[in-house]
Amino acid sequence: MQERSLAVQERASSRASVAIAHGDGIGPEIIESTLKIVEAAGATLDIHRVEMGEQVYRRGISSGIAQRDLDTLAGTGVLLKAPITTPQGGGYKSLNVTIRKSFGLYANVRPCKALAPYVRTLHPDMDVVIIRENEEDVYGGIEHRQTNDVTQCLKLITRSGCERIIRYAFEYARANGRSRVSCFTKDNIMKITDGLFHRVFDEIATEYPDIQNNHLIVDIGAARLATQPEQFDVIVLPNLYGDILSDVAAELCGSVGMAGSANIGDGFAMFEAIHGSAPDIAGTDTANPSGLLNAAVMMLAHIGQVDVAQRVHDAWLRAIEDGVHTRDIFGQHSIGCYGTVAFTAEIIARLGMQPRKLESQRVDAPVRLQPAEAIINDHRPDKKTRQGVDIFVDWSGEPDVLAASLQALRLPSLKLSMISNRGTKVWPDGNPQTRCVDHWRCRFSGDAPTAHDVVAAISAVAEAGYDVIKMEGLYAFDGNAGYSLGQGQ
Ligand code: NAD
Repeated sequence: MQERSLAVQERASSRASVAIAHGDGIGPEIIESTLKIVEAAGATLDIHRVEMGEQVYRRGISSGIAQRDLDTLAGTGVLLKAPITTPQGGGYKSLNVTIRKSFGLYANVRPCKALAPYVRTLHPDMDVVIIRENEEDVYGGIEHRQTNDVTQCLKLITRSGCERIIRYAFEYARANGRSRVSCFTKDNIMKITDGLFHRVFDEIATEYPDIQNNHLIVDIGAARLATQPEQFDVIVLPNLYGDILSDVAAELCGSVGMAGSANIGDGFAMFEAIHGSAPDIAGTDTANPSGLLNAAVMMLAHIGQVDVAQRVHDAWLRAIEDGVHTRDIFGQHSIGCYGTVAFTAEIIARLGMQPRKLESQRVDAPVRLQPAEAIINDHRPDKKTRQGVDIFVDWSGEPDVLAASLQALRLPSLKLSMISNRGTKVWPDGNPQTRCVDHWRCRFSGDAPTAHDVVAAISAVAEAGYDVIKMEGLYAFDGNAGYSLGQGQ
């Protein structure tokens, strides 16, 4: 009796705790399908159901998830999440952003592989993994309306954030036998923020001589990805470009209904399909569960049940090549148009089989960086020197009039050196054709001014009757300017 209960305990302890969210729309149908398949394949999961999404929002919880369920997530460390519906109207926070930020899920990993000829695609040889930075960039949601005319959004890129995601991309490539990591940024325009991402990419690439690397400006990178995706292997990108291009890559493969994604942090990981809750087809037994199933395959590998992950993936590939297709991928190679339930049964029937025509792909190895390993930023801090201040004012008029008035201010350590409007220098020597709006950046520079000098300058501008709307300090780091020049300066 005692022996038996020990064995039961042992079995119980080998089960992995995972949180499951059923989601909205087609969510409950595809999660049921996914769980049936992975359990039939032998997954040993200790399932904790959590509620999130539309019903929770409608109960007045603006984050879409109650604290009790957030605590459950923290206890399991792994979430398989069906898509949710974000209700229309203001006041609702993005659940995904809440979970990513709460649990520090810094890496978003999205494999996009064509399954030609069984799933229609223009790029039969496409096999790309998009690795997107997941926490920074404009996703801080720090936005302001500052004048009648002008709104702004703050783009934050940190050195430590770049180091983590870029190292993750190289480690992923190495762990999965991929030969090249490409980086896309727009550092010809955003020289400081995207420039940092590019620079850290170049630095970290030197530590991986076995892996090729290249950098492309995101516009040509996107164009090449759309027309010659075979050129790419692993692509690492800042958050916004990654958000856009990972959907483009999934669609290029044939259908957004097929791809899964992983969101990885130090102590937590979330797995989901990339598509939404598809309310238009909810309850019709037509949803393709493949995206969530592929997310579950990534989750199984992450929790160490790699053999089960491989069995599921092989059975799924076999079903696809046998022409067992849901409506969204129905075509000339389909032997029938299967509903969600029938598609699920067909995959279960193929568990233990290998694909015959599609190459059996090894399930991707998970990569988890140790926190200390992720950060190489042990450089000594750069020497920071104050060089001035940009004072922004809400004002309407001619640049020369504004300049004359600001030059007349008596400031001991700072001098007006430039005025720009929407980033373009309009004084001194501005172009009269530049269209000016009511948002002026007035740059005051000096020789090592103090914080007190800066405050005095802001006060003086305000006392002269100007509506001061914000300031940005101007600093040099190890002698290099940490701020952009005005266009034309
Ligand atoms: P969607 O991805 O839900 O649907 C787009 C189109 O693709 C629809 O025609 C839909 O029927 C089809 N489709 C999507 N998944 C499918 C599948 N598995 N099988 C077959 N067809 C599928 O995008 P949407 O309509 O823009 O958004 C609907 C809702 O989903 C919105 O409330 C949105 O906020 C939410 N959403 C949630 C997530 C998430 O939870 N991660 C992601 C994106 C959108």
